[in-house]
Amino acid sequence: MKQYDYIICGAGAAGLSLLMHLMQNKAFDDKTILVIDKAIKNSNDRTWCFWEQQPGIFEPIVHHSWQQAHFYSAYYSGLIHLQPYTYKMIRGIDFYNYVLNEASARSNISFITGNVQALANEVNNARVLVDGESYTANYLFNSIILNKPPIPANKYFLLQHFKGWLIETADPVFKDAHATLMDFRVSQHNGTTFVYVLPLSPNKALVEYTLFTGNTLGMQVYDTALKDYIAQYLSIADYRVVEEEYGIIPMTNINFPRNEGRIINIGTAGGQTKASSGYTFNFIQKHIRSIVQLLLYNQYPLAEDSFFDRRFKLYDSTLLNILHNKKLGGDRIFADLFKKNEPGRVLRFLDNESSLKDEINIMGSLPSQVFMKAALQEIFR
Ligand SMILES: Cc1cc2nc3c(=O)[nH]c(=O)nc-3n(C[C@H](O)[C@H](O)[C@H](O)COP(=O)(O)OP(=O)(O)OC[C@H]3O[C@@H](n4cnc5c(N)ncnc54)[C@H](O)[C@@H]3O)c2cc1C
Repeated sequence: MKQYDYIICGAGAAGLSLLMHLMQNKAFDDKTILVIDKAIKNSNDRTWCFWEQQPGIFEPIVHHSWQQAHFYSAYYSGLIHLQPYTYKMIRGIDFYNYVLNEASARSNISFITGNVQALANEVNNARVLVDGESYTANYLFNSIILNKPPIPANKYFLLQHFKGWLIETADPVFKDAHATLMDFRVSQHNGTTFVYVLPLSPNKALVEYTLFTGNTLGMQVYDTALKDYIAQYLSIADYRVVEEEYGIIPMTNINFPRNEGRIINIGTAGGQTKASSGYTFNFIQKHIRSIVQLLLYNQYPLAEDSFFDRRFKLYDSTLLNILHNKKLGGDRIFADLFKKNEPGRVLRFLDNESSLKDEINIMGSLPSQVFMKAALQEIFR
């Protein structure tokens, strides 16, 4: 059995982000690191979008970015100027190749392809069982959900489910400087439903049909919705589907355990998916930066959220309460947010980086009775 300094379980967004941050810092050059995943990461299995102000460590592989985005709904439509933020897209395959190429030149980093079966703490180590073999490390960073946490009766578990088509058109129809962040003009019959459109060139765009609801739909429902949207709202008849993407992201306020002894959970498994939006990629980056900072100072690599920071959990639960109980539709809520606030404030808020002043303004822009009632219900649960 071999002993490592760090074992990273799962070579997805969180695992490879951690690896990249460690590789970027010379202080970790002599640390032995083992990365384990059951899959060989050689396909474009997803794209990640996020917004940021300053370029992060993945800037070299940003596939496309946008400074302006349309918002459409029955309540408000407008072209939103995202400054000081830029909305960015990274393709999964570029991300995997970028990190794995960098790692392949390092003698201190090893990889195993295998199925992680169990994790455990020992007195001075953490242990992982992979296809019957044991490996130990000083710290184990885990992004694999081995056991889905139970869903207590007072918690919500909505799904963000979506299907996207990367389409190529015969004519140059897209303005690739303008994304469509959310288009709620589609039927809201199933619950909160919108389409986003990310043009990559005048002939190419990712069109994604997205729902925040309790249940997924039959595959043909997403396909029909995409076809209808492309015909009705993009007025495109001549196109071909180059790639497809389907995904489900949990939108839940259940607690994903952050750590247990020397096992530190990262990514969605470590609670880094924003419950009210499903956005995860940027939260992963912030979480990983804080972990690496603590490792540098030889400290236990997990910073607890302050009491003040935990207010965002209440905001998330309040929104989930409203969506789950169908008190208001997401179309109305997001329309109010973007209509009555400058976009930077909304994006700061959705990133858990808003000030109290921002939040007072945000609250003032939303239907106060519904939100107050839901917030009080969540506080006293
Ligand atoms: C299609 C899709 C699109 C998304 N788009 C966005 C977006 O635009 N913006 C955003 O912020 N978020 C997005 N998300 C949400 C989130 O960012 C991603 O799910 C992200 O990949 C989560 O990172 P992770 O490391 O937690 O999980 P993953 O990236 O899924 O990594 C987990 C890894 O664990 C491996 N694994 C699982 N079980 C085992 C096992 N038993 N043994 C060994 N290995 C195992 C998997 O193969 C995988 O590589 C998207 C999610 C999906 C599914």
